[in-house]
Amino acid sequence: MIARSLRPVFLGAGGRILNRRIGFGLVVALAFLFGSASLRAQTPASPDGKAGSIDKAPIDKAGLIDDIVIGSRVLAEFGVLDGFGHVSARDPANPDHFWMARSLAPALVTADDIMEFDLDGNAVDPRGRAVFLERFIHSEIYKARPDVMAVVHTHSPGVIPFTISPVPLRAVFHNAAFLAGGAPLWDIRKDFGETDMLVRNPAIGKSLALTLADRPVVLMRGHGDVAVGPAVKVAVFRAYYTDVNARLQSQAVALGGEVNYLTAGEGAKADAINLQVLDRIWNLWKMRVMTTLAK
Ligand code: MN
Repeated sequence: MIARSLRPVFLGAGGRILNRRIGFGLVVALAFLFGSASLRAQTPASPDGKAGSIDKAPIDKAGLIDDIVIGSRVLAEFGVLDGFGHVSARDPANPDHFWMARSLAPALVTADDIMEFDLDGNAVDPRGRAVFLERFIHSEIYKARPDVMAVVHTHSPGVIPFTISPVPLRAVFHNAAFLAGGAPLWDIRKDFGETDMLVRNPAIGKSLALTLADRPVVLMRGHGDVAVGPAVKVAVFRAYYTDVNARLQSQAVALGGEVNYLTAGEGAKADAINLQVLDRIWNLWKMRVMTTLAK
């Protein structure tokens, strides 16, 4: 029996999220039937993690919101997000606006919770809804990076040690190839002194975006990380594999001896392949989320 607040979510043929109470079998069957049809064409990125040839295929608002809901629930399901963290997407029809959930745990996000914001972090139609304090992570990165269409902020437990230790996060396996070029580390204390550690205003968000520069991931000292991409599923993929890579790297370092990381050249080649096959794991993740909702 699912909680009342966790309405089952599935993607219909049109890619629209329907909030209906439906049986487990139907959810799975529909996921198989329509999962791939509802997916938008994937946007490739260049091997160094920068955006490549952005796919111009139109993404309707409902499809974009589907991806935010699915991405939020997937990352919560796999422990990359807990009660905190958020997924957003730039509005392709209005690049000066983006979409993200109202202030809510990611595992509980539904299509009805997604709000529109401008690049100053103002809600377009707040209607009294609480908004995330750290929405400036998103607004300032969208401002600084026209190529970025999606942003994920996490407090990934696997990543935190690399935000406070001198050991840099580096790519240890092919699925995290986007890390082969390194992930810069941002320290809020450098520019802002002793704070509550939160990206609670545009100036702090801008500082973070500057440190991210043209990279796919930035680490936040004593806080977490931000992954960006040319589509929601790319940013979600990067957030997920940043955490997995960090856990594996910690294990490799603990084993002792010199760790044999991916080279930049290996990273570039592997990242290009990952982006081509990303739909496979996105579909799997989506099914897992639907199954959980139906329990
Ligand atoms: Mn945070």
